[in-house]
Amino acid sequence: MSLFDWFDNLRKSEPKIQKQQEREVADGLWTKCPACGVLTYTKDLQANYFVCAECGHHLLIDSNQRISQLIDPQTWQPLAENLHAGDPLGFRDRKSYSDRLKETQLKTGLKDAVQTGTGLLAGFPIALGVMDFRFMGGSMGSVVGEKLCRLIEHATESSLAVIIICASGGARMQEGMLSLMQMAKISGALSLHREAGLLYIPVLTHPTTGGVTASFAMLGDLILAEPKATIGFAGKRVIEQTLREKLPEGFQTSEYLLEHGFIDAIIPRTQLKETLAQLISLHQPFCSPLIINDHSQREQEDISITEQENHLVPRL
Ligand SMILES: [Zn+2]
Repeated sequence: MSLFDWFDNLRKSEPKIQKQQEREVADGLWTKCPACGVLTYTKDLQANYFVCAECGHHLLIDSNQRISQLIDPQTWQPLAENLHAGDPLGFRDRKSYSDRLKETQLKTGLKDAVQTGTGLLAGFPIALGVMDFRFMGGSMGSVVGEKLCRLIEHATESSLAVIIICASGGARMQEGMLSLMQMAKISGALSLHREAGLLYIPVLTHPTTGGVTASFAMLGDLILAEPKATIGFAGKRVIEQTLREKLPEGFQTSEYLLEHGFIDAIIPRTQLKETLAQLISLHQPFCSPLIINDHSQREQEDISITEQENHLVPRL
């Protein structure tokens, strides 16, 4: 074969290779880093906590992956997992809120945008809440509020440290005022947890915004964040239009907030479990020994939150 023929053959085979690569990416065998574009074998990426080995970009991960990264195997006990939202306002945009909920539940296998439960983190008993951005942008409605409240109350009763992994677009507009009142409700539960001398650490991941930032994400004894996460209250454009000023470079990133004292540390995901274990062990002398008791009966019930409205209001 002449050199020209060889080049010719190579050129012809290129699209095939490209097509095969595309197929493998589509199959989930390989994952393309959204920051640097490098393809990584998905299993390798998983072993590296879904952090790109090439550029350090932290890929979005769901609540199940978070739980398996942080909680020791076979120790996770979910709490209040059957709570699901009603549609108190009969809200409708392009489709009804009820239909949107059903679709998202089918797609994600979750009842709402947070998973809560207890388990061991490197041997330490903790109460863990993990928000899931796939579920309507991790928005905080009455179920997210109620589940986090029950988690914190359970932790207070059982003398457990609370860790909440935040990822949220803010309050759930489809529930109007009911979603906004969750901010005060969770903050109240955290206040009792703090009075009991217990440790609370929120971990802010990309993105943490709106009502979540304005309440429990900023109420930690120590506030941790993942690198380059977007953390803020209102969107950048809204602030610029209100202030009529250009905002500085890197505004609303973990790095900017660390520099300005809003958060305590930026911890790469690969070191998160180890760091949390160290922080809990430092606080351990102030905690009572491990209690992971059976969850109370109410967590087992399948309750629609709207049916519980009368119960929710006095809790404020
Ligand atoms: Zn990368």
